[in-house]
Amino acid sequence: MRKKIVAGNWKMNKTLDEALALTSEVVNMVNDEVTRDVQVILCPPALYLTALNKYVENSPRVALGAQNCHQKASGAFTGEIAAPMLQSIGIQYVLVGHSERRQYFGETNAQLAEKVDLSLAHGLTPIFCCGESLDQRQNEDFIGFVKNQLTESLFHLTAEDFSKIVIAYEPIWAIGTGLTASSAQAQDMHAALRGHIADQYGAEVAEGTSILYGGSVSAASAEELFACPDVDGGLVGGASLKSREFTNIIKAR
Ligand code: PEP
Repeated sequence: MRKKIVAGNWKMNKTLDEALALTSEVVNMVNDEVTRDVQVILCPPALYLTALNKYVENSPRVALGAQNCHQKASGAFTGEIAAPMLQSIGIQYVLVGHSERRQYFGETNAQLAEKVDLSLAHGLTPIFCCGESLDQRQNEDFIGFVKNQLTESLFHLTAEDFSKIVIAYEPIWAIGTGLTASSAQAQDMHAALRGHIADQYGAEVAEGTSILYGGSVSAASAEELFACPDVDGGLVGGASLKSREFTNIIKAR
């Protein structure tokens, strides 16, 4: 059975004190509540990862992820963070190709393929983000567009390596807008992506791949979304900044 995952992407939010408080609230709530079969991943600003590590080390159901890493292992890239650095402080997950990285930092499918390779080489699990814009949804073969994001960034991997990847489908028009995809829209895309993975790697790999939905997920929308057969949890932005709301989303998985 594939893993159920709820990940929180804090983006560029929270001071250190706020980050510590939010993490300990989430850890306590996850430990207290019945969330046994779900992996929770917190993706705070990278600056806080070392400090937060202590808060999650005794709580296997809560892990930390970085929001990004560079495509090279080291070098003259001022301000950047590399996969081996994340590995050296015990981080398990990394978001790769979030739409804000693609949009504001010009990340391409080819660069993301390099980030995926380096992350895997350093023991990190990439959470590969993909999704279409509103214009693409209205005017293009948007399912083909998202499938191609997987093809160009992931399909060079061996089946063994691909099996370590988590996919997050995040329609750009739903991120931070309050416009959640309907459960039918999410299910259609997730099923199409799973079919695309099956065509490349076979049914067993496709059935084992966790595909998360992201885009304005809230406690109110999570239950219906997560009930879809091909939706294996969520990548949550704004709602992950509030411990109670986030925990209610976790409970809906
Ligand atoms: C995200 O940034 O990955 C995200 C899904 O944000 P939000 O939940 O705020 O739409």
